[in-house]
Amino acid sequence: MTELSLKHIHKKYDNAEKYSVTDFDLEIKDKEFIVFVGPSGCGKSTTLRMIAGLEDISEGDFTIDGQRMNDVAPKDRDIAMVFQNYALYPHMTVFDNMAFGLKLRKYDKSEIAKRVENAAEILGLSDYLYRKPAALSGGQRQRVALGRAIVRDARVFLMDEPLSNLDAKLRVSMRAEIAKLHQRLETTTIYVTHDQTEAMTMADRIVIMKDGVIQQVGSPQEVYNTP
Ligand code: ADP
Ligand code: ADP
Repeated sequence: MTELSLKHIHKKYDNAEKYSVTDFDLEIKDKEFIVFVGPSGCGKSTTLRMIAGLEDISEGDFTIDGQRMNDVAPKDRDIAMVFQNYALYPHMTVFDNMAFGLKLRKYDKSEIAKRVENAAEILGLSDYLYRKPAALSGGQRQRVALGRAIVRDARVFLMDEPLSNLDAKLRVSMRAEIAKLHQRLETTTIYVTHDQTEAMTMADRIVIMKDGVIQQVGSPQEVYNTP
């Protein structure tokens, strides 16, 4: 069971004059796939980064399953994040890229191998484990970034525009892959995009943001008024 509660969350960067996020209020249910959508600069990444612990929360309360997270270090939040630019280490193999977070957390070797091989199997990367990122296609690199998140078996996934570096065709097929992955793992997920189609096809619920404020929350049918 993993539920996130964001109560009256505000963010003002130290060097900024105005708030980047104002009174963000949302309850996220167990196993939900939530999509934050809105134009560039509306506060999607900032909100995601506060949830990950990469930015401080200026005001408000963030809890996971009732436990206050505001002051918990990122590595202790049990959250795995996938970034837009993949953030892969170019000098490491696919295996080592996927294993990195587990080594950091001192998992033993056999457990690491088991988890990496399992993730590689799910993502169709079993034949690529000993290649380096430069020898992979864009879609494969994106799968490695997903693999790095899923080996953690974290209770929450955060994805920040994970498909925006891919060409249009690949974006559509990766969309389906991520949706399938979510059906299989059932991990509570928050996915950020500026692409409405992505939001509509993937989300259980969509959060539409504008100028740091939530405009609307609902199912794709509710927010986009489609049958
Ligand atoms: P995106 O819109 O895709 O999230 P941005 O280009 O807005 O990307 O931001 C890229 C990086 O620059 C982020 O790490 C963000 O925190 C930082 N950034 C964005 N706007 C500012 C700003 N006004 N001052 C300082 N850093 C910023
Ligand atoms: P989005 O992800 O929706 O593109 P962001 O969360 O990146 O939006 O940015 C929200 C607002 O906060 C923007 O006005 C941006 O310029 C500002 N911002 C983002 N990062 C920083 C930063 N590190 N310092 C100052 N302002 C920032």
